Amino acid sequence: ATRTPVTVIGLGPMGQAMAATLMRAGHPVTVWNRTPSRADDLVAAGATRADTPADAVAASDVVILSLTDYPAMYDILGPVVDDPRRVLAGRVLVNLSSDTPDASRAAAEWAAGHGADFVTGGVMVPAPAVGTPAAHVFYSGPKAVFDAHEPVLRPIGRPAYLGEDPGLAQLFYQAHLDVFLTALASLLHATALVTAAGVPAGDFLPGALDLLTDIPAMIGDGRELARELEAGEHPGHLSTARMMGATADHIVRTSQRAGVDLALPDAVKSYYDRAIAAGHGDRNWTALFEVVRARP
Ligand code: NDP
Repeated sequence: ATRTPVTVIGLGPMGQAMAATLMRAGHPVTVWNRTPSRADDLVAAGATRADTPADAVAASDVVILSLTDYPAMYDILGPVVDDPRRVLAGRVLVNLSSDTPDASRAAAEWAAGHGADFVTGGVMVPAPAVGTPAAHVFYSGPKAVFDAHEPVLRPIGRPAYLGEDPGLAQLFYQAHLDVFLTALASLLHATALVTAAGVPAGDFLPGALDLLTDIPAMIGDGRELARELEAGEHPGHLSTARMMGATADHIVRTSQRAGVDLALPDAVKSYYDRAIAAGHGDRNWTALFEVVRARP
């Protein structure tokens, strides 16, 4: 049986990896990229090069977009709207580019206005992991449309469908990256702290990474924490906001002494300060949630 043709628009590292993965899965793949040379390797491997975005859209019912952000989608597809063939009508656009949930929602409306179905996604692994068992992708948008095309999308990475709201995939993407980027920044800050004291980074970093993987053993798999946060319960007296806040203060002062940047530890300390000021000092550290969830 011939497999569904797929178009991939946007051939940065991610789009190239997706197109190659779909070709390996047996799909005829059409590609287009603003900088044409980025398609060369894929074309050499059997992909079809579209000369224009309209030709790329016309080539397949399923059109995957992998662009820097959503404005790039309008730059590319805006002119396509004027094509007399009305190529967007009846297509499924799967936008796997990063942007805000609001940008995803606006784009879904824009697509609907041109007769296209719109599925949004966030790919949760870097390009070398696309198409491997480690890859997983958050999707949102119309369930029936997602279900109908899930088999085509599956080779890219294990799909996790979140719901009809087109903003959900990017909401989850941004929330995961919130954890990821903050953890990465903290690793660099902490490394700066120890190296400023003359300690080799190699003496520190492996243990720091062990700490990251030990977190579930300390706080569980997230289910109980989720229940407590939603209920506004912050039980326990072993890791109170007051105790953790004192530690946050020690980190700021050690950073000051070391001459390293203070932005990150100051931000963490401010959460504890405000939680304590709001009367949460003797509650579990999770009471920070009461401060974080409501912007002053
Ligand atoms: P790149 O920035 O390398 O590629 C972006 C693509 O967008 C290129 O094809 C580029 O074209 C195109 N593009 C950008 N702006 C425009 C525009 N105004 N008009 C036309 N084309 C445009 O990104 P990646 O491939 O690394 O990532 C793609 C998406 O995937 C991003 O949203 C990123 O956040 C997300 N992502 C990336 C991961 C990664 O590890 N790289 C991991 C998970 C998600 P051109 O080649 O001509 O510049």
